[in-house]
Amino acid sequence: MHPIFSIVPEEKARKPGVIPRIGVKPTSLLTSLPPLSLYVHVPWCVRKCPYCDFNSHELKNEIPEREYLDALQADLEQALPLVWGRQVVSIFIGGGTPSLLSAKALDDMLAMFRACLNVLPDAEITLEANPGTVEAGRFADYAASGVNRISLGIQSFNDDALKALGRVHDARQARDAIAIAQRAVKRVNLDLMYALPQQTVAACAEDLRQAMSFQTGHLSLYHLTLEPNTVFAKYPPIVPDDDTSAAMQDLITEATSAGGWEQYEVSAYARPGERCLHNLNYWEFGDYLGIGPGAHGKLSFHDKIIRQAKLKNPSSWMEKSIRRDASHIAEERVLAPQELGFEFMLNALRLKEGVAAASFREHTGVSVLSIGAAVKRAVDKGLLEPDPSRFQASALGWRFLNDLQAEFLE
Ligand code: SF4
Repeated sequence: MHPIFSIVPEEKARKPGVIPRIGVKPTSLLTSLPPLSLYVHVPWCVRKCPYCDFNSHELKNEIPEREYLDALQADLEQALPLVWGRQVVSIFIGGGTPSLLSAKALDDMLAMFRACLNVLPDAEITLEANPGTVEAGRFADYAASGVNRISLGIQSFNDDALKALGRVHDARQARDAIAIAQRAVKRVNLDLMYALPQQTVAACAEDLRQAMSFQTGHLSLYHLTLEPNTVFAKYPPIVPDDDTSAAMQDLITEATSAGGWEQYEVSAYARPGERCLHNLNYWEFGDYLGIGPGAHGKLSFHDKIIRQAKLKNPSSWMEKSIRRDASHIAEERVLAPQELGFEFMLNALRLKEGVAAASFREHTGVSVLSIGAAVKRAVDKGLLEPDPSRFQASALGWRFLNDLQAEFLE
C-alpha cells in the first residue's frame, strides 16, 4: 500500500533462495540485543495499483479472516522460540490493506499478540489504512483494540492524479478518512507521493498544502518510482523530468521545515515526539519478527544475526503455516560478518542525523574496524561527515545516498 516498504527494504518481497539455515556458525558476538518489533503483513487490496511492487493481491471475494488468523497464530507460535522473553516495543500492521479487516478480526489479532508476546503496555501499534476502505466506526473500534497510530495511504488530493495512480479512493474520501482517523487516534501519518504522472510543481505544492493543513504529526513523502514487474514498468506513464522532480523535492524540504515537520529520514517528516518508532527501529538496525505472507524478519542472538522471509503467496503461506512444520518459511539465513557493514549502513545512513558509531559494534557484534576502509573512503570523498563518534551522511552524501551506501558493499 504505502511506498514505505520501497523505502524500508526489509519489508520488500525478495526472491526466496536456498541459503544456509540457522546455526551454521557464529558470525558475530553481541553483548546485548537490540529492541524488538513485530511486523504483520495483510496481503489483500481492493485493487492492485499499477505502480505497486509490494506483496499485495487483489481481493476476489471476502478476506478469509478465520483462516488468515489461524495461519498467523501458527506462524507466530512457530517463531516464538526465536524471541523468548523479549519485549516487543512496536507493532506495525501493514500490507496490502489492513483496514479491510473487520474490527473483530483486528481485535482477535491484537489479543493473540498480547497472549503470546511480551508487548510493552505503551508499545506503538500502527495500522495502515486506505481511504477507500475506511468506515467511520471501524477506526474507533481499531483504536479500542489498541491501535494507537494510523498510517493513511493518501498519495494525492488531486482526483486526476489518483485516477492515474489507479487508486480506489478520491480526494473527498481522502479528506474524510483523515478526519475520521484523527478522531480515533492521536497519532496519524499521511503517505503522499510526488513526481506523479503529468504532475506540475504547482500541483505538488497544492497536494502538500492540503496534507499539511491537517496538522498530523507525521508525513511520509515519496518520489514515485517505476518498479520492475509493475504495470507502470510495462506501460510507463509520462512523469516529471529530473529537474522538475528536484524542484518538488526542494519545495517539500522548505515547506515541511517552515510548517514544523522535521525531516529525520529520506522520506519521513515528523513534528517533535512524533517520529515512527517502528521504522526508526528498522533504520537503527533493531530486530523485527515478521509474520504473514512475504513478511521479512531480522533477529539477533548472542552469536549471530539471522534474516527470515515467509512464503509470499497468501494461499500457500496459509496452507503451510498451519501445518506447523516450518514449510511456510521461504528463506532463513545467518548474515555473514562481511554483509553486516553494508546491511547496517544501508539503514543507518537513511537517517538525517545518522547514528552513534558505537551502535555499530553494539548492533552487529563485529568490530567497527571491519568497515574502517569504507568509512575512510567515504570521508575522503566528502560523502560522510568526518566526526568519528557518528556515522552521518554529509550534505553531499545526502544528495548521493546510493553512492554513499555503495561504499560499504563488499
Ligand atoms: S493499495 Fe495499491 S499500493 Fe497499496 S499495497 Fe495495495 S496495491 Fe499496493
